[in-house]
Amino acid sequence: MRTIAILGSTGSIGRQTLEVVAEHPDAFEVYAITAHRSADLLIEQARQFKPEVVVIVDETYYDKVKDALADLPIKVWTGADSLCQVVTAGPIDVVVTAMVGFAGLRPTVAAIKAQKALALANKETLVVAGQYIESLCTEYQVPILPVDSEHSAIFQCLQGEAVARGCFPWLAQANTSDDAEQQRPYLDNPVEKLIITASGGPFRTFTMDQMRDVTAAQALKHPNWDMGAKITIDSASMMNKGFEVIEAKWLFGMNTDQIEVAVHPQSIVHSMVQFADGAIKAQLGCPDMKVPIAYALSYPERMTSHINGKLRMEDYASLTFERPDLERFPNLRLAFDALAEGGDRTCVLNAANEVTNEAFRRGECRFLQMAEVNAATLAAMPRVAQPSLDDYFAIDAEARIKAREILQGH
Ligand code: MG
Repeated sequence: MRTIAILGSTGSIGRQTLEVVAEHPDAFEVYAITAHRSADLLIEQARQFKPEVVVIVDETYYDKVKDALADLPIKVWTGADSLCQVVTAGPIDVVVTAMVGFAGLRPTVAAIKAQKALALANKETLVVAGQYIESLCTEYQVPILPVDSEHSAIFQCLQGEAVARGCFPWLAQANTSDDAEQQRPYLDNPVEKLIITASGGPFRTFTMDQMRDVTAAQALKHPNWDMGAKITIDSASMMNKGFEVIEAKWLFGMNTDQIEVAVHPQSIVHSMVQFADGAIKAQLGCPDMKVPIAYALSYPERMTSHINGKLRMEDYASLTFERPDLERFPNLRLAFDALAEGGDRTCVLNAANEVTNEAFRRGECRFLQMAEVNAATLAAMPRVAQPSLDDYFAIDAEARIKAREILQGH
């Protein structure tokens, strides 16, 4: 039995995590669920899963949630600091970080310091502060289990091949056990490169002219994956794929030039690893987030799943792969460049993108303008080489102000 806390339980990943839990009631216990302001769904989830603690971050909904759960022995907390407190609770084994954006950084740091295993869905945490999180995980011997489908695929391809560096210190530790039964040979088969697949999103075949006038409603129609609004827009602009490149660097200890993106419109191959001998391993399946979620929660074991439509290869006449077009999707180039430049660059890119993504969804920014403003924000902010945790908060705030200024002047 694993006891879990789900930060962001009302979002797309949070809801699907609870579906996995509901399918395996003997395997998991829910200790805490949290939401920013989706009070009604949070109440419904609390009544169904009966956690110890519920956090509604936005204080204006506190009374509503408190009153609705008054007949149950559930503690109701509010405020952003409650997220940092709830993750430290003794019984929790795994914290699922499924909230959106920079807001995930502080509670993730609190969970690592409390030595909780992380099932990481909030990729922005690694985009903003990957180097810091990597060193913190090593210091506190905390595993990060990837929930993102591409990173779960890479993680699965690495089983039996390599002890991934950086964020998997507990694997290296397991190999030094005195117990002969537990000892496994320390394998570190050299990885040549990671190949992260991308669907290409709804505008994969659009010309630049067609992309100029696309609306948020068009961008929100993802061809293969059912996801939250912010990440769906990031997928359409390929910012999401750029962030996944950054995420992969920190999760798997790769150099930037060892990470490639391949556009694969069918979304069946979830990512690949090429080893030094030329062999490539891939992980395949239907595009269903419940598979990587379940693997992160049950690792190293696999659970039987009845809820997923399983892949039938004969349904796919062909699986195709093509190079991404960095001219039409400049966000992907920005991500590679920011990662190569290092320091605070990816933090600035994330902050600018949170501003432009939201502006686009509100109809206040055009599709191609998002990448232009992201680039201009990076150019306008002097590079900080070695940011501290406090610096990340200051840089994030400053970059948001700068991005809004640039957007207004555009
Ligand atoms: Mg992904």
